[in-house]
Amino acid sequence: MTEVTSSVAGVEVSLDHWIGGKRVSSSERFQNNSPIDGTDLGAVSAGGKAEVEMAVEAAISAFPEWAALGAEGRKPILDKFARGILARNEDLAKVECADNGSLLMGNIHRLVPRTAQNISFFAEYAMSLQDHIIDHEEVTNDVRYDPSGVAALITPWNAPLMLTTWKIGPALAAGNTIIVKPPEWAPLTCSMLADIAHEAGVPAGVLNVVQGIGEDAGDALVNSPELARISFTGSTDTAKIIGQAAARTITPMSSELGGKSPLIVCSDANLDAAAQTVVMQYMNAGQVCLAGTRILVESSIEAEFLEKVRRALGQMVVGDPREANTRIGPLIHPEHFARVAGFVERAKAAGGEVLWGGATSDVGDLYFQPTMFTNVGLDAEISQCEVFGPVLTWQTFDTDEEAIAVANGTQYGLAGTLFSGNEDRAMRIASRVVAGTLWVNCYFVRDLSAPFGGSRISGIGREGGSHSFDFYCDIKNIAVRKGSFAGGGN
Ligand code: ADP
Repeated sequence: MTEVTSSVAGVEVSLDHWIGGKRVSSSERFQNNSPIDGTDLGAVSAGGKAEVEMAVEAAISAFPEWAALGAEGRKPILDKFARGILARNEDLAKVECADNGSLLMGNIHRLVPRTAQNISFFAEYAMSLQDHIIDHEEVTNDVRYDPSGVAALITPWNAPLMLTTWKIGPALAAGNTIIVKPPEWAPLTCSMLADIAHEAGVPAGVLNVVQGIGEDAGDALVNSPELARISFTGSTDTAKIIGQAAARTITPMSSELGGKSPLIVCSDANLDAAAQTVVMQYMNAGQVCLAGTRILVESSIEAEFLEKVRRALGQMVVGDPREANTRIGPLIHPEHFARVAGFVERAKAAGGEVLWGGATSDVGDLYFQPTMFTNVGLDAEISQCEVFGPVLTWQTFDTDEEAIAVANGTQYGLAGTLFSGNEDRAMRIASRVVAGTLWVNCYFVRDLSAPFGGSRISGIGREGGSHSFDFYCDIKNIAVRKGSFAGGGN
């Protein structure tokens, strides 16, 4: 079948799989529309078992040569891949914006550069993983980071470029071959990454992309018996399903899942900085797993702080994400929009008081106003469940113990943010909040070498720096008895 492409925001994008260095078309296709205004972006190949088997075979055949290149051999290719991403910054940004409704300027200035960095950083990091010797009185432990084999990478729609390369970078740098299953609600930039990788010299079969619906293509992929690793970012419910497939073959799985993170504001904080950070939680229309969606404010400063947040809210213009002054674009999909609106309606019905927002925006079909609820019980659905939309809750606390208890009072443990001007107090609270990442007087700073992941139902494992390699490598210790070779070596 001939390749199907689509012109998306003036950029020609393939709507087919990328398997074994070639475009592969499926007769089954799924429709993709832009959340900005419903524009038809084309019908994308919907893979299933056959396409997954083809991709697994290609990845298995490509593995020995890619692994044998070593980190030094892979680095120039991956660096070229990273440069190729930067060279197509504007194209990638336009397509990501059209596909998932994220801000064009945010993509150009932050997400695409970070996407390139995800590749080059791990290519460099892999170089330092070699030849790790641990000396023991009887033996020399020669620790090797062997690539694990074929890795399946399954990613969500809220930041496909950034989150996919956060996995592609370390997986390829470590010498694995990969099969990426992009999100069906935003499948396009991953298709472009395949072209850019190919142009940079990533050999056929090393990076494969199988497009399709999660329950079909994704399910076929995670049930493949040949996988060495499964890395997943998405919802907790989907992770439970994938985890069962991984368990059947004892395939190591890492998962970065949802959150219901607290944002704690103490009376001794820089309230202007904290207020700016509160409104930042509406970023990407709240479709951010790390969002601090539960604002916990010390009672003594509530009135003053609320006023500051209201003022900061003025900047949060809801609009077309292609416009430079827009801060909140559309929700991704009508189904997701209905889900978010459902949470809001139920929260109102349960007695939640709307401080602002609480309704759809007149910008277009999928736009929702930034919303803040107060007067919500700690056990209320809106206080416990991840909404993944521009919907926050506002609660107060009187003591640090109370703040910690409320912060820890959900099943999640992904992230948290704390504002306080008192170091002892800040570190005391921070050390007791259950979270993979706890930001103090800052937010959303993600250092590529720092561990990142979730506790409780927010995930299994950590990514970032050496943690990514611990996952994507088979770590082997060759323990050699000293003096056991003729000639007295070792
Ligand atoms: P969200 O709720 O953010 O859409 P999901 O967990 O549903 O997150 O989706 C994240 C990724 O997981 C997407 O690429 C989706 O296609 C994929 N996915 C969904 N269901 C399955 C499944 N049963 N097996 C494998 N992958 C799946």
